[in-house]
Amino acid sequence: MICPKCEYEYIDGIIECPDCGKKLISSEEFKGKLIHPEDWIVVRTFYEVYNAEMYKANLESGGVESTILSKKDSSFPGVGDLSVVKLLVKKVDLEDAILIITDIESEDNDLKEDEEYK
Ligand SMILES: [Zn+2]
Repeated sequence: MICPKCEYEYIDGIIECPDCGKKLISSEEFKGKLIHPEDWIVVRTFYEVYNAEMYKANLESGGVESTILSKKDSSFPGVGDLSVVKLLVKKVDLEDAILIITDIESEDNDLKEDEEYK
């Protein structure tokens, strides 16, 4: 799925662009040219850079290259404080990346459960 305005591609499950709120369209409908020549895909979005960096570090230790894009680096000026940090991986690494991300998120849940038992 692709945002026709920002020209970013998103994984399944995201139906609206986190940046501009536009409904995402399928790659078949999209007639423009993606701005990521190496086929990067957004796997998660964050509001805090440090969260994105935590994921990036985990992905890298799992051998998956990732990159963080925030509005500050963008050539499009952001609107107000609504800055979204995007975490991207290469499409060829997507399956590995999803596994690692699922792992991170299930570990988080384990920690929370442990705390509840104390
Ligand atoms: Zn957009």
